[in-house]
Amino acid sequence: MKIEVIKSRRKTICLKIKDSEHAVLSVPLRLSDKQIDKFLQSKKAWLEKNIKKLKAYEQFEHQFDFENFIYFDGKPVYPTNKLAIDFSSLSGDKKNRLIKQAYLSYFAEIENMAKELSLKTGLIYKQIKPTSSVRVWGSYNAEKVMKINWKLLILPKALWQYVICHELCHSLHMNHQPKFWKSVESICPNYRECKKQLNKYSFVLKNNL
Ligand SMILES: [Zn+2]
Repeated sequence: MKIEVIKSRRKTICLKIKDSEHAVLSVPLRLSDKQIDKFLQSKKAWLEKNIKKLKAYEQFEHQFDFENFIYFDGKPVYPTNKLAIDFSSLSGDKKNRLIKQAYLSYFAEIENMAKELSLKTGLIYKQIKPTSSVRVWGSYNAEKVMKINWKLLILPKALWQYVICHELCHSLHMNHQPKFWKSVESICPNYRECKKQLNKYSFVLKNNL
């Protein structure tokens, strides 16, 4: 981590993280090296926390390179003959449409998992449909229609399982009250960790594909 110190005719101290390797500290001319050290020391925990976050994000962004790969179960896969798509040669809406189409061809995997989990837990749904929402990974309505975001296919399978279990539990509770989470926990004991992981992948969800 490199911290570049810039002294200038300013009145306040400002610390900005540029990327995971580089931060800039802007200070007034009168500030001594000792005072600068003291300030940096006081910001150490904040810096470390934010750099850790940034590093995870940078690695992640790099991993999810839609130009060259499609991702399945959290792993990159070269476009195959089956898909016959070279995303890098496409752009805009057409590219997004084909990426979506490629993933939707795998949606049966999610359908199968939902069927299995429903049998295992006794929690039911009438119909399962893919959604492209940029807000939610899944939903479950009063007509017992379960919608699962196809972008989930990009993520590790453990997270598909959590989202499906979550939606299935809405067949018991149409809310997110403590009783609902108790039900989720009974069929997906590590749901807290899964929730955390899903949050990390929210940029995948926000992709308007
Ligand atoms: Zn819910």
